[in-house]
Amino acid sequence: MNTTTPLQSIKGVGPKSAEQFAVAGLRTVGDLITFLPRKHEDFTEVVSIADIHPGKMTIKARCEKIATRPVRRGMKITTATLVDDSGKLQAVWFNQPYRTAQLASGDEFYFSGEFEFQYNRYQLTNPSAEKVSDIGKGTVQTDRLLPVYSAIKGLKSQLVRKILAELKPLMTMLPETLPPAIVAHEGLVSYGDALLGMHFPKTRDDVARARERLAFEELFQLLLASQLNRQANAKLEGWHIPFDLPAVKEFVAKLPFELTGAQRRAAWEIIQDFEKQTPMNRLLQGDVGSGKTVVAGLAALSAARAGYQTALMAPTEILASQHAETLSRLLEPFGLTVGLATGSVKGKARTTLYDQVANGTVAVVVGTHALIQDSLQFHKLGFVVVDEQHRFGVEQRQRLLAKSERMPHLLAMTATPIPRSLALTVYGELDVSILNERPKGRKEIITKLWSPNSTAQLYDLADEQIASGRQAYIICSLIDDNPDNDVKSVEAEYKRLRGTRFKHRKIGLLHGKLKAEEKDAVMTAFATGELDILISTTVVEVGVDVPNATVMIIENADRFGLSQLHQLRGRVGRSAHQSFCYLVMSDSKKPSQRLREIEKSNDGFYLAEVDLRLRGPGEIYGKAQHGALNLQIATLADTKLIAKAQKAARTFVLSGEDMLQYSQLAGQVEYYQRLTTLN
Ligand code: ADP
Ligand code: MG
Repeated sequence: MNTTTPLQSIKGVGPKSAEQFAVAGLRTVGDLITFLPRKHEDFTEVVSIADIHPGKMTIKARCEKIATRPVRRGMKITTATLVDDSGKLQAVWFNQPYRTAQLASGDEFYFSGEFEFQYNRYQLTNPSAEKVSDIGKGTVQTDRLLPVYSAIKGLKSQLVRKILAELKPLMTMLPETLPPAIVAHEGLVSYGDALLGMHFPKTRDDVARARERLAFEELFQLLLASQLNRQANAKLEGWHIPFDLPAVKEFVAKLPFELTGAQRRAAWEIIQDFEKQTPMNRLLQGDVGSGKTVVAGLAALSAARAGYQTALMAPTEILASQHAETLSRLLEPFGLTVGLATGSVKGKARTTLYDQVANGTVAVVVGTHALIQDSLQFHKLGFVVVDEQHRFGVEQRQRLLAKSERMPHLLAMTATPIPRSLALTVYGELDVSILNERPKGRKEIITKLWSPNSTAQLYDLADEQIASGRQAYIICSLIDDNPDNDVKSVEAEYKRLRGTRFKHRKIGLLHGKLKAEEKDAVMTAFATGELDILISTTVVEVGVDVPNATVMIIENADRFGLSQLHQLRGRVGRSAHQSFCYLVMSDSKKPSQRLREIEKSNDGFYLAEVDLRLRGPGEIYGKAQHGALNLQIATLADTKLIAKAQKAARTFVLSGEDMLQYSQLAGQVEYYQRLTTLN
């Protein structure tokens, strides 16, 4: 038996359970032994019912009486009386009706849960229940930490534990997966011991040492990958784009505003990268409204002057057409043509565009992922810009980059600031430019939480702004009303407000189900000031730039994530006028921490840190890239361990040791390299 043995050949795994394992992604012995427990239930301190006190408690008891009854709206409550030699206790479960069948047998169980005062009595709330006889046969059970695994549909957790017990001998013989010098230097437990420590710990310390070793390993792989990416990039030969000072000067002079210091710095960094032998691989991070587009425009001009085309990819059609317009305005004075390639550019228009891109008449092509279609061929693609880069997968970026004979220069732009801890790991070895300066004359957006019961006042405030020539957004999370809840929808609000409070104003409706031409027409009408109010879903979330808009009303604000709220708020505050953002709560009694944080701060970098703390990295950076990072153990908040792993990865790279002799390491590193590279 080894790690590649199919689970089905293990004693106790039949075809049926093998299938359930497979559905959960577990096919081989190796998969199962690295299927790590979610947590460890601590039965080392069992208290008797007479000694119980509020807090997290474990008791060893039998169930005397148990019943499940429905309460409101499909909720079910199960109530049980638990007894041990010292006394009785009530336990309550919500929506776990199966407890009745599980516990009615009268067997002895360990119950672990929160002992608290609820509904005027003390009770054990939602305790887990582990049958005592399942844990260890008759012997000393009380020095036992029980691993708890994520549920696998159709499989009892006892079976998972039993099969892992079968594999215990194998775990003791597993070869080391990290370079031995590193294990020794860092004082880590061996790979085999780490797995044993996770699946069969005797003490809390066993678990801690196992976790540390496995977390270190994950971070080491990730950081090694990012260093190798940098090395690989340094070996590539890119296009040489010389600095054209007169053109850049003219571009800056023609702008209707003065560049911020941060914009100048970023532009300068890009221009310097263009002159190097290796292709640029740069992340441009700038909070919403910090002015990234014009930096990309300046770089595109430099590329065009040297005879290279630019492709700019944006995540939505609205944003792509807005960028095409902005860049036309910036670049046409230099005799450059900007084209737009989206899904709705079809037929004759598309053929013409593709011809012009292929023969080089079009200098800059802006588009959605339609840009990566094989039929779109460039004359000489030298520069690729990906706006809101976290919205795209690695694959999409790579397919666009592959449209050039050599690796083009890449500028990935994002308004979702990457917290320092994450920047250190995933983007540890990237070149980063940061726009941390607001354009001159901008005022802080005033943000206020708002009660749903006083919207009349809110509309008055919005109307005042409109009367003085400004415009307003109203954002709802739904397109249509949903009979099951009171969440506001754009369709209903559009109808309602058009007939009542805002009868005298011009209102537009925007959502994702409209046809591309309809979206375009509404967006254009709003951008040109024809409309006073735009009622929209989050399709305007990223990038949309209408500087005259100063009011942002977000209905049911608690339904949105922190970075989403910050992005939405970023649609206003784009001119010298004072802007306002009103977050209307679904229920004014209990503003969530998210809402309180966003009310407090306009700083995207601060909010990104908060968001990382509240939700974790996978949720924030989207499945496309980070979901697959799949860190099982390590947390990116552990900066100390990150620093250690960083150092170890550097030392390893410098040592020149061949990674290929560690096959598991090499495989993981290659996977992470593909996942975290920008190009
Ligand atoms: P983002 O970084 O969110 O993509 P944009 O590039 O859309 O920001 O720019 C936001 C708005 O600010 C645009 O209307 C743009 O013309 C304007 N802008 C950009 N740079 C400056 C500046 N230095 N001074 C004043 N306005 C600027
Ligand atoms: Mg933008």
